[in-house]
Amino acid sequence: MSKIEIFYPNYSRKAITFSIDDGNVPMDKKFIDIVKPHGIKGTFNLCSHNLGAFDAQGYRDFYDGFEIANHVKYHPFPFIDGKEYKFADVPFSPESADPSLIYESGVDGLYLLHIIRRWRHVCGDDDYIRFTKECNEELEAVFGKGSVRGFVWPYGKQNNMNVCNELSKMGFYSIRNGGDVYDRDGFAIPKDRNDWSYNASNLALLKVAKMYEEYPDDGELKFFCFGVHSIDFERSGNWNDLVEFAEKYGDRPSDYWYCTVYEAFSYEDAVKALKISEDKVENTSDIAVYITVDGVKTTVPAHSKIEL
Ligand SMILES: [Zn+2]
Repeated sequence: MSKIEIFYPNYSRKAITFSIDDGNVPMDKKFIDIVKPHGIKGTFNLCSHNLGAFDAQGYRDFYDGFEIANHVKYHPFPFIDGKEYKFADVPFSPESADPSLIYESGVDGLYLLHIIRRWRHVCGDDDYIRFTKECNEELEAVFGKGSVRGFVWPYGKQNNMNVCNELSKMGFYSIRNGGDVYDRDGFAIPKDRNDWSYNASNLALLKVAKMYEEYPDDGELKFFCFGVHSIDFERSGNWNDLVEFAEKYGDRPSDYWYCTVYEAFSYEDAVKALKISEDKVENTSDIAVYITVDGVKTTVPAHSKIEL
């Protein structure tokens, strides 16, 4: 029987992507200006209430070549399971507000909660799901129908079983939480796409990228995703690390496949759907899969088969 080996579209086994939250336009501009010239791709996770910097065409141009995912309108916390929230019966005033209470925000169903040193948004389950749906609709009105397919928790995964279940039912191909996972699972493509995170945030970027570069080829497709806010580089004063990363690991299309998160996961789906038998390889997916047959490079086009 022929020996079949699976590769990414550049015949490498190492993907590089990123997942950057919040849609901070000045900071995302600095970020894009560093990574894009080196061919690095990834996903920006936006909150639709923040879309004030450009008109729709301006946004499409700004994030051209990247994926857009849902980071929930108003960037709220959901109410946490088992926690009681006391509602204030007076209007919010930053000088006199009681941090043990939650206050009406002026948006129906959205409240102000004092947490992590300042006042932030919080809402009940139904409103959280409503703001998630509104975010999708408003992002797709800008970036195109059907284009927003991934979800990223604001503040990382929240302890609210009902919201977790509802999000799973909404059909997002990916639900990302927060925190660096480094080389967990040998840089495998995340197994639980409803509960995964990036390998490295800004401070660990170069260290984990080096581990990725040195990770031996074990025949499996690998995944390296960095995060998490473009402003992290500004706050840490380490834009130079991103520059070094882009110069070192960008512009190497035979070593790394540069993709969005969606492209990486979709490619894995296509690979998993391959039907390999003694005399043929059949691709039932919508995207071409890149393989070698006894060391010879070939592709199996979408919805077709090759004879061995
Ligand atoms: Zn965020």
